[in-house]
Amino acid sequence: MAGRRIVVDREVCIGAGTCARLARATFALDEQDIAIVVSQNGDDEATVAAAVRSCPSGAILIVEDE
Ligand code: SF4
Repeated sequence: MAGRRIVVDREVCIGAGTCARLARATFALDEQDIAIVVSQNGDDEATVAAAVRSCPSGAILIVEDE
């Protein structure tokens, strides 16, 4: 099934945390203060899109699956 997957590039993330504040059900900061994806379907698309736009380092990628 086609779909999309939310990915955080941990090499690029600077731990600003805006993603986790905007889309709490999708992103969290781990013990290294780097973002992790806690759920692929936790927030609606608009909320996820806002989090992607808010990321100062462009670390959040939306990958379209085949
Ligand atoms: S907003 Fe971007 S830089 Fe900040 S924690 Fe989330 S992924 Fe990392």
